[in-house]
Amino acid sequence: MRGACGAKLLGLAAPQAYSAAMVHVGIGYDVHALLAGRKLILGGVDIPHAKGLDGHSDADVLMHAICDAILGALGEADIGRLFPNTDPRWRNAPSRIFLNEARRLAGVRQGKIVNVDATLIAQEPKIFPHIRQMKTNIAAALEMRVEQVGLKATTNEHLGFIGREEGIAAMAVAGVDLP
Ligand code: MG
Repeated sequence: MRGACGAKLLGLAAPQAYSAAMVHVGIGYDVHALLAGRKLILGGVDIPHAKGLDGHSDADVLMHAICDAILGALGEADIGRLFPNTDPRWRNAPSRIFLNEARRLAGVRQGKIVNVDATLIAQEPKIFPHIRQMKTNIAAALEMRVEQVGLKATTNEHLGFIGREEGIAAMAVAGVDLP
């Protein structure tokens, strides 16, 4: 294949034909347990709730999943490698710093984060009232416009550990335009 088609070929067979217009996608998933006596921080919003997420940092499961999606698009190691939970620097750390770092790593590669999209899976509390603020926080941490951040929430229909309110999960994808 040649020409317009050839220019879009990927892989070792045609590295010189790698298109600058290519967007890399990444996927992220995270889950944290709900515990009494912890704050519930989701998308950088402190949500009043009987339980919060357990973890070394602020345990913001949503920002963690988005961070991993961006790191995935860059082909980097995951958030647990970059920010080990054995490192006291990240104890109770606000997770926006992890997004700041993912953004910085994209910048080092001259990459631009095109969009992120995420789904929070939580039986309780209601997420919808906080979506706008979460999007604002995520966009700020990534130096993006709010319109580039997708965010939805769903319950788990009372099924499994999420349905029993033992934990909250998040999944995310990210598109990164890499030269
Ligand atoms: Mg996590």
